[in-house]
Amino acid sequence: MDFRFSEEQEAFRQEFVSWLEKTLKELRGDATIQTFESHKEWEAAARDFQKRLYQAGYSARHYPKEYGGQGRPIEEHIIVSETISRICGEYFSPWGVTMGMAAPTIMTCGNEEQKKTFIPKILDGTHIWCQGFSEPNAGSDVVNVSTRAVKQGDYYVVSGQKVWTSMAHMADYCILLVRTDPEAPKHKGLSYLLLDMKAPGVEVRPIKQMTGEAEFNEIFMEDVKVPATMLVGQEGQGWMIAITTLMFERAMGDANMASRMMRAVEEMFDNARKTRRSAVPLIKDPRVRQQLAQAYIEILVLKCHGYRHLSQLLGGGVPGPEGSIGKLLWSESGQRINEWNMELQGPFSQIMHGSPWTIQEGRGQYGFLRSKGFTIEAGTSEIQRNIIGERVLGLPKDASRVKRN
Ligand SMILES: Cc1cc2nc3c(=O)[nH]c(=O)nc-3n(C[C@H](O)[C@H](O)[C@H](O)COP(=O)(O)OP(=O)(O)OC[C@H]3O[C@@H](n4cnc5c(N)ncnc54)[C@H](O)[C@@H]3O)c2cc1C
Repeated sequence: MDFRFSEEQEAFRQEFVSWLEKTLKELRGDATIQTFESHKEWEAAARDFQKRLYQAGYSARHYPKEYGGQGRPIEEHIIVSETISRICGEYFSPWGVTMGMAAPTIMTCGNEEQKKTFIPKILDGTHIWCQGFSEPNAGSDVVNVSTRAVKQGDYYVVSGQKVWTSMAHMADYCILLVRTDPEAPKHKGLSYLLLDMKAPGVEVRPIKQMTGEAEFNEIFMEDVKVPATMLVGQEGQGWMIAITTLMFERAMGDANMASRMMRAVEEMFDNARKTRRSAVPLIKDPRVRQQLAQAYIEILVLKCHGYRHLSQLLGGGVPGPEGSIGKLLWSESGQRINEWNMELQGPFSQIMHGSPWTIQEGRGQYGFLRSKGFTIEAGTSEIQRNIIGERVLGLPKDASRVKRN
């Protein structure tokens, strides 16, 4: 397999990098989350960035023109999203669920009216979306979702609670998994709604993480009226549509995470060259050299895995359970690499963003703390291993689940 870009793709990549560098000068340059005074400011910067992407024709270029895209090959979209992840991920992270999960699910499973209403508003930076699947008693076993939606005339009346909903405090809409039929077998009683986050009865409460940021939230819903036109697919198809969303989440994650982590590794190389311990540059320390080489290898493996998965999709496939391999790779490598980065910084690892003594503006410290969630979000490592065992390798079903079913 040849992983190089064609001449035309390389020319496009360079054109996009020039546009991005120019645009970043007009924005706040090379931002970390802490560059922004508040999440309101971060949100405004993210919306502004997405609007500029759209106006320049770089937003979801592979989507058809009638929905606001450019009808271009998906490779150009991959070049755009990888470059953003590597150079300026923080302007884009509020859009992760929107572009990686909500948009492709609506494009694949939504009806024509839903596509025409929502996709252009996503692409042009008007609407941020969040994903309301997890609940206090439904995480790995998301089929346990108990948020109720009762059909009353032209509406569903929704009551219940979601938790760990990333970016809900910024979101305009939510892809919401609800139970419409409590009598049906668990996975047949679920439906998939598009929820207006500004609707009466929706309350968002931020949860503070150990990074100090509150990127995820609880959502409380009390008698929220959701128009029946906001149902995706048919009533009772929520489980299959939710799986489609999760497959999309895993499909694009690898290549983007590889780009993001490559930046951290480049910063580790830079730091190892500049820092001396006992008068010897760290880059000459054999243990450090081993760690740097290992980090570089793990990212290249992740990148190649991501490209292989994407080539399958380009060949006409849909995202499959193989996506779990990439999820395991990026989350576990991500934790290791962030930890090595802190080891490399030695005592400086304790100095956070905001101090003149912090290294690389505290990106590594934030990355280390944030990486602890990698092996939980988007499905825990144990769950990914179960999926790989059962659905990729064809091993017998996990005994604990056989018993419970
Ligand atoms: C940073 C972050 C962002 C998130 N963002 C969102 C979001 O935007 N939207 C959303 O809906 N959710 C989100 N989540 C929630 C996430 O999807 C869940 O936390 C995750 O699926 C695990 O569910 P749980 O927390 O209920 O843990 P549980 O499912 O209770 O698991 C607890 C432990 O048991 C293990 N376990 C459970 N079942 C099995 C099994 N069958 N075999 C072996 N081990 C098992 C798990 O691996 C884990 O170690 C986010 C989580 C994090 C950390």
